Amino acid sequence: MERKRCEILSVGTELLLGDTLNTNAHFLAKGLSNLGLDVYFQMVVGDNPQRLKEAMQKALERSHFLLVSGGLGPTQDDLTKEIAAEVFGKKMVMHEESLRELKRFYELNHRVMPKSNEKQAMMPQGARVLQNPQGTAPGCILEDGKGRAVILMPGPPRELQPMFENLVVPFLRPYSAVVLVSRNVRVVGLGESTMAEMLNDLIQEGVNPTVAPYARSGEAYVRITARAKNEEEGSALTQPMVDEVLSRLGAHAYGVDVENVESCVVDLLKKSKMRVSFADCGTGALALSRLSAVPDAAGFLAPGFSAQTCDDLKAALGMTQPLGSPEETTTALAKTVQRKTGADIGLALVVREGNYACAVTFMDDTTTAGGRYVQSRDAAYTKTVAVNAAFDLLRKRLMQYLK
Ligand code: AMP
Ligand code: MG
Repeated sequence: MERKRCEILSVGTELLLGDTLNTNAHFLAKGLSNLGLDVYFQMVVGDNPQRLKEAMQKALERSHFLLVSGGLGPTQDDLTKEIAAEVFGKKMVMHEESLRELKRFYELNHRVMPKSNEKQAMMPQGARVLQNPQGTAPGCILEDGKGRAVILMPGPPRELQPMFENLVVPFLRPYSAVVLVSRNVRVVGLGESTMAEMLNDLIQEGVNPTVAPYARSGEAYVRITARAKNEEEGSALTQPMVDEVLSRLGAHAYGVDVENVESCVVDLLKKSKMRVSFADCGTGALALSRLSAVPDAAGFLAPGFSAQTCDDLKAALGMTQPLGSPEETTTALAKTVQRKTGADIGLALVVREGNYACAVTFMDDTTTAGGRYVQSRDAAYTKTVAVNAAFDLLRKRLMQYLK
């Protein structure tokens, strides 16, 4: 197949004046090169019909696909669709479905739709309409039937980006010379920067596959991405790197392409045929809530106890002895909840003033962890990190048991 050539045309006087940074061109260029499509030219034109028409005609003489951003708004100077229709020799017609969507958008926002907005539902005849759930201006794809197409997208990046990812990429993919194959190694109990240090040479030197560290809701992960001709070649390229990353991260890595750490915990509970009971303080029962959201978790969860203060938790569990240090407290709580509920495993988690501590009692044996101080983060973040740590402790203990 002939390699397809693309161009990017950014429309808007504000771009020429330097008022707005042309981030759409950057985003689209990256997206197209990820698809293995060649980008030959990028242009910027103001909201001027003559120059816009010239730019489109020129682009279509030398490229297969022209991706245009901006100028789809309701105002007089938004002319992209009209000019594209002219270039393709098409009439503008009302697209009823878009008009209904537009009216619905205003209704949902309790606003009256200005008459001028109807213009946004007008489309070049025969165009493939691209819905825009983020805003009011739908995009469209106009094809000439001879292998050339103009793809029109709205200017605001928060509207353009999902439209590109969800609707334009599927349209372009059949013309793409490569596939991207990504694997995610999930990590808990290690910050993004510590993890990045352990993988520094791979991150710096990785070309195909690339290795990139990320952080998300209290955990870190590593994404390994290969560009290849097909899925098999992509998998073959990524696998040795996945193995290398796993061996460097050791027990910190809890899985590859898995949903979350709690689903790994549930898997291990299934394998070991054990039930766990929670005693937690200060998390709003977050551990139990996350674990119970995993399909099939119910069979492995014994009753639990949750309170906002350790005194309340102690009282609920019928404990009379003083609690002591975080380690002593969680150890006593884990043992008590295990005994009281008859579960195989007792897990205790205490979160207080940005600190957390957790302990797991496994049959007759107790392991503790935590006590990390998490500064300048919000309370919700601390709870998430604490629950991740408790799950991680339980996961490691279960793996030890199953070995
Ligand atoms: P428009 O679709 O022309 O009505 O664009 C609406 C808004 O989108 C503009 O006011 C800019 O804030 C933003 N915008 C338009 N083009 C770009 C671009 N190339 N890069 C980043 N933002 C843009
Ligand atoms: Mg504009």
